[in-house]
Amino acid sequence: MSECIFCQIIEGKIPSNKVYEDDYVYAFRDIHPVAPEHVLVIPKKHITSLTHLEENDEILAGKILLGIKKIAKQLGLDEKGFRVVNNIGEEGGQTVFHIHFHIIGGRQLTWPPG
Ligand code: 5GP
Ligand code: ZN
Repeated sequence: MSECIFCQIIEGKIPSNKVYEDDYVYAFRDIHPVAPEHVLVIPKKHITSLTHLEENDEILAGKILLGIKKIAKQLGLDEKGFRVVNNIGEEGGQTVFHIHFHIIGGRQLTWPPG
């Protein structure tokens, strides 16, 4: 069994609140939401972080972005606006080492973050 918790979520071995799935991408609600809408978008293929993306992940990278667009529309965030966050490595605040994009929205967000 994979030791990666997000791979286990994709495999259905850890329960998750799914909001979207296609051949490339899986998306589910963050267990500790920081806003009314907080969804994590992950590729089904295990990639540790953005720095581990390879040239032949070109199609997958596009599918992730297009998935984010579809999910934002599904959540009703596309008109109001929202934020996409990708934390990379220790100083970037990454705690789960399977690349994931946070979709955060449903309230006014401020910039810069902490
Ligand atoms: P990171 O800090 O790596 O960018 O974000 C990891 C996110 O994954 C955190 O927001 C955390 O709440 C979420 N998370 C960690 N473990 C689980 C889990 O088992 N289920 C769900 N739904 N979210 C998780
Ligand atoms: Zn994984």
